[in-house]
Amino acid sequence: MNKINIKDLGPEELEDFVINLGEKSYRATQLGKWIYKRGVSSFDKMTDLSKDFRASLSQAATISSLKMIEERISFDGTKKYIFGLFDGNRIESVLIPENGRNTLCISAQVGCALGCTFCLTGRVGRIRNLKTSEILDQFLEVNNRNNGSVTNIVFMGMGEPLDNLENTVKALKTFTHPDFIGFSPKRITVSTSGIVPKIRELGKQISVNLSVSLNAPTDELRNEIMPINKKYPIRELIEESARFPVPRRKTLTFEYVLINGVNDSDEDARKLGDLLMGVRCKVNLIPFNEAYPLPYKSPPDERVFGFQKVLLSYGLHVRIRKNRGRDILGACGQLAADYPLNNKRAYKFSNQVKED
Ligand code: SF4
Repeated sequence: MNKINIKDLGPEELEDFVINLGEKSYRATQLGKWIYKRGVSSFDKMTDLSKDFRASLSQAATISSLKMIEERISFDGTKKYIFGLFDGNRIESVLIPENGRNTLCISAQVGCALGCTFCLTGRVGRIRNLKTSEILDQFLEVNNRNNGSVTNIVFMGMGEPLDNLENTVKALKTFTHPDFIGFSPKRITVSTSGIVPKIRELGKQISVNLSVSLNAPTDELRNEIMPINKKYPIRELIEESARFPVPRRKTLTFEYVLINGVNDSDEDARKLGDLLMGVRCKVNLIPFNEAYPLPYKSPPDERVFGFQKVLLSYGLHVRIRKNRGRDILGACGQLAADYPLNNKRAYKFSNQVKED
């Protein structure tokens, strides 16, 4: 019999699982506390569960952990973790200490199908979705290794979390369940390149912060650098994102990677300002992180400030995000877990978009 990995079950599924084993539903809470709050990975050590229940659990289930292959530490304190998965694939997570916070950037897929032209993960192509356990274990392992100091979680690592919606939602429910990991939804951000119906679907299931990777002020330019835009154009994306139920006193974020000579002119900033006027949001400007073999350059600092100035004149709340961990290829768009980078799978999704 194939054993179930308990961490692959969301909170509701875990209840069903214990009921199927002939136990009361509150046993799921006890089990979750042992695994997520106390970090116990053996059913035998769960001393407030009956011997019979522990025996049934051992027969039917396992508790996973993820194998950390390498920790790379940047001169700026950013840490990149490479994990080896059971099937030989690899993923990366990045821990970014900044302004009293310790933000962990986690992956949702091995590679990514969406083929954004400025992103190394897009070059890897989509290999597979991560299981719920593999999403959770990135946090559990890194948090444990760093003495429980992770304060924020962002789904901005490898892959598009909404292209792995089911497992992303299950992981979010476990992260935020008060008896399991108990992380505040206000400290969790899901980042998306803009799969519009999945944004709607996510919003029906959970309230966390949403960050939308916009990166261009027109459909023409966005089609070029983010093929997903051919399917879900900018205005539709902005309208749907604005309806997303972020937690109270939190605001929708748009990310904009500034690429030298591509999307960073004052004219681009004005078009972006026009587009976002009246939308309750913040804008994060991220100077492009150069990485071979991506064909782009970072903009000079004065261009970044010039772009910000134009947006500020529209009354928008605009921050410039510092580059962190560039020396360990841990910065935004640089995660590829040492995969070869000219994989044809990278363009599969964009071809599908054209065919639709
Ligand atoms: S930016 Fe995000 S959605 Fe685009 S290719 Fe990279 S990982 Fe995928």
